[in-house]
Amino acid sequence: MIIIMEQNATTEQVQHVMERLLEHDFDVHRSTGASQLVLGVVGDTQSVDPRDYELLEGVHEVIRISEPYKLASRTFKPQDTIVKVGDATFGGKKVGMIAGPCSIESREQIRKIAKFVKASGTKVLRGGAYKPRSSPYSFQGMGEEGLKYLREAGDENGLAVVSEVMDRVDIIPALKYVDLIQVGARNMQNFALLKELGKVDKPILLKRGMSVTLKELLMAAEYIMAGGNHNVILCERGIRTFENYTRNTLDISAIPVLHKLTHLPVVSDPSHGIGIRDKVAPMARASVAAGADGLIIEIHYDPDNALSDGAQTLFFEQYEQLVKEISMIAKAVGRTV
Ligand code: PEP
Ligand code: MN
Repeated sequence: MIIIMEQNATTEQVQHVMERLLEHDFDVHRSTGASQLVLGVVGDTQSVDPRDYELLEGVHEVIRISEPYKLASRTFKPQDTIVKVGDATFGGKKVGMIAGPCSIESREQIRKIAKFVKASGTKVLRGGAYKPRSSPYSFQGMGEEGLKYLREAGDENGLAVVSEVMDRVDIIPALKYVDLIQVGARNMQNFALLKELGKVDKPILLKRGMSVTLKELLMAAEYIMAGGNHNVILCERGIRTFENYTRNTLDISAIPVLHKLTHLPVVSDPSHGIGIRDKVAPMARASVAAGADGLIIEIHYDPDNALSDGAQTLFFEQYEQLVKEISMIAKAVGRTV
């Protein structure tokens, strides 16, 4: 339920409404709409008669939110949420860029890639340390040692860093080393993990599961937000369809649909989304044209020998070219890189 206050509501009137809500054990979130204060009410609002609040002085309107995701919904908070990660922003006018290898493979590898990322103008470095691999015999990531190298490479180049956690026990090391915590597609409905991430003071990059609906993605975001962490970036990374020419089907339609349903920023991961190197750039361009608030791209100086996801990983020159193209497309849709 949301309570829209009158434009000229006084501080006392707002206070009175809030006190009443708190007395009834509701959580109240304030947000300023175009010109009016909006109070978002979370709790068992089904039992409330909206008229009880509509009668209070200074109240303009009481609206029930029909979506099951409350905190994530645009009805609840009409203005876009901007999530800051180091020098990058997601959800504002700028298209935030994230680049780096699928996995951190060695100290030298991540330092070399970080140096290139910095030179390309990108502000956030990615690198997986805990890897969700389909086979238990594949490279599983360097764990905490990898996170240390990632942090060091980021610091050397003034970059923020992002890495994935797969389990609740990974959160403690992640908090020490990363600026943005990624939840991967395979863990998007790990509700115990999401609840824990609701308590942390770091932004979360929440990737869409490969066979979940947008509503389920928003409910996963709601889990994190309900715990108090409202800095969530959603990521479309491709879904599983009947098509098997590509690794996944990047659902570009998710971008405008999510923008309508939620105030949270939406980034696109065309690397996992299509999974084929020479098709990553066209899907990245299409994502930005469709309104993506950012891109996450896998890059490596030697993709053919990368320890994971080499086939979808761009060479440095391809990334440089992509950044130029993205700048042009961003400009065409009223944004910048
Ligand atoms: C990744 O970003 O390397 C990754 C494993 O992504 P996803 O969870 O989208 O497969
Ligand atoms: Mn990968």
